[in-house]
Amino acid sequence: MQKILLIHPDITILDRLKKELEKRILNVAVLTAQTLFESNQALRHNQKNISIAIVDIDLQDSSPGKAVMLTSTHNIPTIVISSAQDKSLQELLRKKNVLDYIDKDSKNSISSTVDLVAQTLRNYNKTILVVDDSKLFRNTFQEDLKKLHINVITACDGAEAFDIVDSLEGENISIVLTDYNMPNMDGIELTMKLREKYQKDRLSIIAISATDDEEALTKFIKAGANDFLSKPYKFTELKVRIGANLDLLELFQKATDLANKDFLTGAYNRRYFFEASKAIIDKNYRKNASIAVATIDIDKFKNINDTYGHDIGDIALKESLVVLNKRLRQSDLLSRFGGEEFCILLEDISLEDTKDLFEDMREKFENNEISIDGIIIKYTVSIGVAYKKSFDIDEMLKISDNALYEAKNTGRNKVIIHTA
Ligand SMILES: [Mg+2]
Repeated sequence: MQKILLIHPDITILDRLKKELEKRILNVAVLTAQTLFESNQALRHNQKNISIAIVDIDLQDSSPGKAVMLTSTHNIPTIVISSAQDKSLQELLRKKNVLDYIDKDSKNSISSTVDLVAQTLRNYNKTILVVDDSKLFRNTFQEDLKKLHINVITACDGAEAFDIVDSLEGENISIVLTDYNMPNMDGIELTMKLREKYQKDRLSIIAISATDDEEALTKFIKAGANDFLSKPYKFTELKVRIGANLDLLELFQKATDLANKDFLTGAYNRRYFFEASKAIIDKNYRKNASIAVATIDIDKFKNINDTYGHDIGDIALKESLVVLNKRLRQSDLLSRFGGEEFCILLEDISLEDTKDLFEDMREKFENNEISIDGIIIKYTVSIGVAYKKSFDIDEMLKISDNALYEAKNTGRNKVIIHTA
């Protein structure tokens, strides 16, 4: 659980902010302090676990800004609440861990604070690849991005950057921040090469160039860059660009999830299963490799709903995803077909491994106990599997359905595999 430290002299504001933050951000504990003394105490007990601090610079028991210096020396990213005219503000903003400030005189200062905290926390632990042949700039970017709790990987030219992205298959890298002029491969060529593989909704590319170089900028945008940052840059500018690009990526992700995933369990939906299975099946048929399609159904699931109600039934369903995922590989396609039925497509797997995998899965369900509000729920599953070379997903599903039917009719809690 993440912890937020809130330091403010006004108890009414403190309470409102705490409530709003808890409402908006999931799994968060908000610690509060009204004085420098209380802040010290809170830090002594929780120092390591505080993700962010929000600090009003005027406290009754200390000179302005003391609490900000305190959180900053404890290496806690800090948002300062202050009046914009405050003289000590500018100096505080230059402190290592101060991220931003909120003008306390503005009408919507509470909602701005909550927005800013939510965005900052959301961006924690995202990864950015910084590409620049200047060591000085690489280091400056790295330091600034670390302030935002962003992981940084660096590369000194386009070729190295491309290799890094390629070896990670784009996984986990959200943004590539790239310079223009570099040896081996320049920023524009890098952008073009990356765009052949990664669309704008998966990977953001921010170009860095001198403000007066309009030609470079145009080329960058044509090559597929999302955004640009001019050199030399200000920290605030970097922060805003990064924040906006990460937000956009998240929106794209959400839209894709809404279309492809089942709302309750987060598993892919039936429509996506059919769509994605096409390419997998074609590929394996060409390779002359066998595939397995499994239909998994929770035994007597109706009893759980009837006995404990649908809310508990829903929790039990979500739990099944956890158990299923324990044995699946990244490349396996899992989908909730409806109700308490799931389908899995496994590519390039031997019959022996298929048997082991599903037998082990069945056993994991049998031994799994779900504890909800003091109630212990257990259930088993029946699994029907089709295993063969095939280019026809409908045929495979029909076979696995028949196998499932057989498993259900011969006692449940078992795996039946049909190979033809
Ligand atoms: Mg350069």
